[in-house]
This record gives sequence, structure tokens and C-alpha cells, in this order.
Amino acid sequence: MNCDLAVIGGGIAGAAIAYRMAPHCSVTLLERESQPGYHSTGRSAAGLSETLGAPAIRALTRFGRPFLETPPEGFAQAPLTRRRSWLFVGREDQRRDYDALCAEAGDGIEILDPAEAERLLPILRPGYAAHAALEPKACDLDVDAIHKGFLRGARAAGARFLTDAEVGAMSRRGGVWQIETTAGRIEAPVVVNAAGAWADAIALLAGVRPIGLVPKRRTALILDPPEGMDPTDWPELDDMSEEFYLKPEVGKLLASPADETPMTAQDAQPDEMDIAVCVERIQQATVLQVRRIEHSWAGLRSFVADRVPVIGFDYEAEGFFWLAGQGGAGIQTSPGLSEAAATLLRGQAWPAGLAALGLEPAMLSPARLTTRKEFMP
Ligand SMILES: Cc1cc2nc3c(=O)[nH]c(=O)nc-3n(C[C@H](O)[C@H](O)[C@H](O)COP(=O)(O)OP(=O)(O)OC[C@H]3O[C@@H](n4cnc5c(N)ncnc54)[C@H](O)[C@@H]3O)c2cc1C
Repeated sequence: MNCDLAVIGGGIAGAAIAYRMAPHCSVTLLERESQPGYHSTGRSAAGLSETLGAPAIRALTRFGRPFLETPPEGFAQAPLTRRRSWLFVGREDQRRDYDALCAEAGDGIEILDPAEAERLLPILRPGYAAHAALEPKACDLDVDAIHKGFLRGARAAGARFLTDAEVGAMSRRGGVWQIETTAGRIEAPVVVNAAGAWADAIALLAGVRPIGLVPKRRTALILDPPEGMDPTDWPELDDMSEEFYLKPEVGKLLASPADETPMTAQDAQPDEMDIAVCVERIQQATVLQVRRIEHSWAGLRSFVADRVPVIGFDYEAEGFFWLAGQGGAGIQTSPGLSEAAATLLRGQAWPAGLAALGLEPAMLSPARLTTRKEFMP
């Protein structure tokens, strides 16, 4: 089973790079699970914000946003985005974070009077917010449709998918990666490591220095809105210091304590304590009385030390390309990241649109992680 490019991981990152590369070369996508999207991609909160994360994340989000708002013909049957403003609120003691948000977000946010925040979100507890700001252009994403659109487009361009194909060993011989999987051996001169929380585990299998990726658990719950209230058009409520968030989710409410518990890569499960913390914070900030948790889940958001994604060829291991460390923004950055990654894989000129937003390949490259040797066992 030979191909030009093997992609390890069938989440949003692997699907998007397969989509970008399949028109140009033969691509095989390898996914350990029986369905792609079982891990982080299927567990997100499905939001897009241009104020979230490091400047590199913001640039990638802005650059890729037009793809999500006006996808190519045939990519999806219905719109992939739905406008949902983000309402940031903070208590008096969160003044510093409020100032930092205002300074970083620039004209992406509007300063709000707390009374206006209470009007926009009728369940916000009166008097809770001492500071408020609104990001009017944030939106919800249809993650399943975006993921399926990438997969369908890649397949239409000739990409081959192997599910139940866990990569268990890798070696490089004669300029070709020999990739042993539970579905057979694949040979390819170039491999893309898009294995999410397992990206460092894949590197170790290949004898490549890890990048110090830390998977961090995040919990989410589905709650009932107060009786008789329809939350459909409410803004998402975001704590100024990222202590919780609450957003409408198909007639219900999705809440998260915005937890970041470091752990090894695994099928993450929610922890009772995080659920309790979430309920407490939501009940402090809103008038919601949580009587029942309909459903809860957890997923991993994986970061390197500077919380910027890692994209580019490894500087020591020939033909080994990193596409990892998307943290809490892997869905919203997927069009931008995959376009950037495809130009690097194809040796093309860096997109002018990204350069105009202040982002250069060196800022994403694994070569910037000078402490990598520490992570070798
Ligand atoms: C609760 C929560 C809320 C979030 N909210 C948002 C949000 O609002 N907006 C946003 O943009 N992002 C959000 N994220 C982050 C986003 O979900 C991730 O950044 C993104 O899904 C990462 O995609 P991925 O393809 O890298 O990883 P994954 O989806 O985890 O895919 C990696 C794949 O690699 C496969 N794999 C691993 N090892 C092997 C192997 N040895 N062989 C073969 N296959 C292998 C895995 O099975 C997996 O399917 C959230 C995440 C969580 C957990």
C-alpha cells in the first residue's frame, strides 16, 4: 500500500490536510478508531472567536474564516457558521483580565455597560457583572458538517481512508516511511502527524524527538434552560478570566468550567469535581437553578509550552511533518491551518494573507521549540 503522503489521525486536522493535499498527490488517511472524529473533534464546544488564544491563533482564525462562511461549492448542504456574539463578563476582582481583554482584542470587542449585558442575557444574575464586553462577530460552527466536508472532498479527490488502522510502529528506509498499522503496512515518503493528543506518541514510535505536547482535559455539560425560556438567540456567556462559559445548544445550554487538567493522551472522561465546580460557577453568575445534568463529556485540548500550534517539517527527521498542538482552537483554525500546512508540504510560497496578518512559518515551526530534547524518554 504505497502513497505519496500518509496522514495519521482522522480528526479535523487530518481530514483538513487530506482535503488540501488530495488534489495534488496520492493520500492515505490512517485512523485508529472505527469512526473518524471520535476524540477531540467530536467533543468540542463548536465556537469561533477572533479574540481567543495567542496572536497566531487569531491570525489563523481570521485567515480561514472566509472558507467557513463561504465554503467551496458542494462542500456542505447548509451554512457552516451561525452568528452568536460572545458576552464577556467579570466581577470587580477581575478588572485586570478585563483590561487585558480590551487591550488584546482591540476593535474585535465592544465595551458594554453591565446593565446592557443583563438585557442581552436575561439569565445573567443582576449585579454580578462589574465589567462587560461583547464580541459581536463570534459564531457557532457546525463541526460535524465541516469535518464531513473535508473528508468527502478528500475522498472525491482520490484520498483513501483506513479506519481501525492504528499505527503501531514506524521506520524510515530508503527515503520512505514504513508504517505498520492494524490494517496493514503503508509506505510513504512523507507522513503528516495529525494524531491530536497522541502526536508525541507517534513521534516516539518514529524515533523523532517529541515536542512536549500536554493534553489537557476540558469538561462540558448539557443543562436545561429555565422553564418557558428559549435560549436560541442568547449570546454565549464567557467569564473574563476563562473560569466558565455557557452557550445555547439546540434548545438547551452547554456549560463548561473551562478546566485544563493535564493528563496523558486517553479517551477522556468527565470528573465529578469539575462538573460540581461548573454548576457552582454557573449558579453564581446566573439565576439558573441547575436541577439536572442531561449529559456530560470531556475531551482533550493539547498544547505545547507557548500554546501556539506546531506546523512544519521536523528539522531532524526527514519526511516527518507536524500538524499538532491546536489546543482549544483546532476547529476554528482548521481551514487556515490546513492551507498553511499544505503550502509548506508542497514547498510553495507562504500565503500572502497570513503574512499580512503577521504570521510567518517560523512562528509555527517545530524548530522554535528549543527545549525538545527534554522530552525524550
Ligand atoms: C470540551 C472542548 C471544547 C472545545 N471547543 C472548541 C471550540 O469551541 N472551537 C474550536 O475551534 N476548538 C475547540 N476545541 C478544540 C478542538 O476540539 C481540537 O483542537 C481539535 O478537535 C483537534 O483536532 P485533531 O484532529 O488534532 O485531534 P483529534 O480530533 O483528537 O484527532 C486525532 C485522531 O488521531 C487518531 N490517532 C491517535 N493515535 C493514532 C494512532 N496511533 N494511529 C492512528 N490514529 C491515531 C485518534 O484516534 C484521533 O481520531 C474544544 C475541545 C474540547 C475538548
